[in-house]
Amino acid sequence: MNVLVTGGAGFIGSHTCVTLLQAGHAVIVADNLCNSKSETVEKIKLITGKELIFYQIDVTAETEVHRIFASHPIDGVIHFAGFKAVCESVEKPLAYYYNNTVSTMLLAKCCLQYGVKKFIFSSSATVYGENRVPFAETMELLPAANPYGETKVISERILKDTARANPAFAVSLLRYFNPVGAHESGLIGESPQGIPNNLMPYITQVAAGKLEKLNIFGDDYPTPDGTGVRDYIHVTDLAEGHVSALDQLSEGVHIYNLGTGAGTSVLQLVKAFEEANGIKVPYEIVSRRAGDIASCYADAAKAKRELGWTAKRGIIDMCRDAWLFEKSLSS
Ligand code: NAD
Ligand code: UDP
Repeated sequence: MNVLVTGGAGFIGSHTCVTLLQAGHAVIVADNLCNSKSETVEKIKLITGKELIFYQIDVTAETEVHRIFASHPIDGVIHFAGFKAVCESVEKPLAYYYNNTVSTMLLAKCCLQYGVKKFIFSSSATVYGENRVPFAETMELLPAANPYGETKVISERILKDTARANPAFAVSLLRYFNPVGAHESGLIGESPQGIPNNLMPYITQVAAGKLEKLNIFGDDYPTPDGTGVRDYIHVTDLAEGHVSALDQLSEGVHIYNLGTGAGTSVLQLVKAFEEANGIKVPYEIVSRRAGDIASCYADAAKAKRELGWTAKRGIIDMCRDAWLFEKSLSS
């Protein structure tokens, strides 16, 4: 298939491009590099030994997006492009609503106009809000605590309504849990700008001596050790989930959790990182972070049953590969 990958230079998009190319698909990337670098595109080519087409464009820009659809016979779209920082979304709600929903609408509109029948969307476990864990696809969505989460709920709704009105349009809504790790080559990974918000990149920067210590946000949650529990998933497993979803996508709307189904606490992740890499990660327990929930992990049964996909890599692999990538940044 010819696959248009928006946000393909980003963290999850770049790993998915690698997996798509290795599976024999042709890839067109559209990314404005607002949170990524063009070097990543070169590294995707280096890892796979294959070519891809790269457009540095904004996927909310109608003329440019039309030009891509008019120039290539596209079979499917995987839409990763978007803003993703929860705290920033509270400060800049309009930027988040605009970027994340206008891009979805424009791409869906182009799909209908140019006869592209397959659409895969990057959603998030954040749409489950404070439902009871494990989160299952059948659960009613609860209002998200921030504009970022709302952009995912709204985009899902836009795509569901579009598919309902256009029965030949096939949509897969993939709800990611906590993607971490990096490609096993250490060539591509997650490199947040400034001080990281997320746990794994914070840990790797502490381990590298770039930050003094990890602040653990609360140890009084109703979890086994009191620290927050999340379902960490290796980014390569997540990438493979996209290829499975694309290969098996049929008419209608299909929703899948992409997680491992296992919860890991902050303290367990710190210990796993220390064990995997033989490095101490100094930490301090501080107060809870506003907006955090105690536990978030997937019921991963549906993706296994319907797509035959399960995450293969464990916490130690995630910690090892995240550290390998961090080390590559300073060498
Ligand atoms: P990322 O920031 O690394 O990648 C997003 C890419 O999209 C970047 O390369 C950025 O330059 C590009 N982009 C953003 N707006 C654009 C626009 N208007 N036009 C063109 N390019 C644009 O983020 P990621 O972690 O790879 O996330 C990818 C998707 O997955 C996002 O939609 C995100 O909301 C979703 N998601 C991420 C996580 C996570 O923890 N990383 C969890 C759940 C869902
Ligand atoms: N966390 C932490 N210190 C940090 C960053 C995160 O203790 O510097 C905790 C956070 O409270 C949550 C878990 O690590 O329990 C995962 O947080 P992350 O931001 O990576 O993911 P999310 O909360 O979006 O699932």
